[in-house]
Amino acid sequence: MSAPDLEVLHVDMDCFFAAVEVLDDPSLSGRPVVVGGTGPRGVVASCSYEARATGVRSAMPMAQALRRCPNAVVIGGRHARYAEMSELLHGVFREFTPVIEPISLDEAFLDVSGSHRLFGTSEEIGHRVRRRVTEVLGLTCSVGVARTKLIAKLASREAKPRATRKGTVPGPGVVVVLPEEELAFLHPRPVRDLWGVGPKTAERLARYGVQTIGDLAVLSADSLERVAGRAVGRQLHALSHGEDARSVQTSVALKSIGHEETFPTDRHDHAELHPELVRLSDSVGRRLRSAGMTGRTVNLKLRFADFSTIVRSHSLAGPLLSSAEITRIASALLEGLDVGPGVRLLGVSVSSLEPLESARGRQLSLIDLDHPATAGPEGPGGPDGRQRRRPDEPARAEVEAAVDAIRQRYGSGAVGPATTVEPGSRLRVKDLGDRQWG
Ligand SMILES: [Mg+2]
Repeated sequence: MSAPDLEVLHVDMDCFFAAVEVLDDPSLSGRPVVVGGTGPRGVVASCSYEARATGVRSAMPMAQALRRCPNAVVIGGRHARYAEMSELLHGVFREFTPVIEPISLDEAFLDVSGSHRLFGTSEEIGHRVRRRVTEVLGLTCSVGVARTKLIAKLASREAKPRATRKGTVPGPGVVVVLPEEELAFLHPRPVRDLWGVGPKTAERLARYGVQTIGDLAVLSADSLERVAGRAVGRQLHALSHGEDARSVQTSVALKSIGHEETFPTDRHDHAELHPELVRLSDSVGRRLRSAGMTGRTVNLKLRFADFSTIVRSHSLAGPLLSSAEITRIASALLEGLDVGPGVRLLGVSVSSLEPLESARGRQLSLIDLDHPATAGPEGPGGPDGRQRRRPDEPARAEVEAAVDAIRQRYGSGAVGPATTVEPGSRLRVKDLGDRQWG
């Protein structure tokens, strides 16, 4: 069952900075952890539920937080580490949809209207996102699902755990607000929950007896404009009736999907690089399919020991159909390069992206029209000869779709291309979250 009215997910990590600190130092588990400025004007950036139970809140002056919670473990914060985790988080989002509006390091809106065929209903996608976040980051998040951004954001707050003196009470994790439930959900809340209502507007509204969004909703648009000003008044009137026309805005259009890996030691021959290339290509193919996208150009990036970097590309006339095809083209690109100087980083990406659905429509007529190698951005160097699509390509595409389904169910270690199996070792599959940092 798809629900065309519920396309917005708001995903928000639970006390993100504090949770990262506890993850990295398990001895902090169960203690009131407060991350924020430690100077005289310091402010709380994030705090664990144990700290919240004593009344500590984000944005509270640190001095006040310490009065409320004298035994708090205060941590100055490690921004680079939070940024790393944020990158993993956004990688998880990209597994589910290319339409992502990042709000902060640990929070984003996702438009999942193109994701139902692969991942189910919006509610199911909400649960899947939560599971993947826990798998990849080892942390928890909360998800709100609704027709509009405002309601989705408020719903994710409802999904969160609650801090009590007796301990943390788990939240539902995912909260769905159906269109017919919106007003009942919205109206008991304080007006401050609406975008555009700061302390000043709230104070002015309170003088008119307006405390809740429901109080606001009974006022006419005209009287609201008189109280809050023309633009804000009009917006508040709309929001209080559940109307929120803003769509999920991706800040940067998705131009390519790729993976790269920095090796612990430089690689000097093709035989060493090939298994890595297969793993990267397989992972890129999987991400393309899970995003419902395909592309026409395979890019291979190499960074050498002296940090010089080259990119080689090859474009097809039609859409790429499988990971095997990405691997084959990337391998041909690699073959033509001298890796003797030592490779420290290898990357594979696919660009010239388009939604799979629209590509499929044209696929049949394009299947035999692949054209010869084109030069990459840094000069000629495509694979030798013509790259023609193999006749078994559509069959491969079906096999890979089946493999995706198995991984979805049993985890990404369950199956993978034979080249990623190392003798005597567990199957290694290049996964989101496997990225090496330096
Ligand atoms: Mg958060």
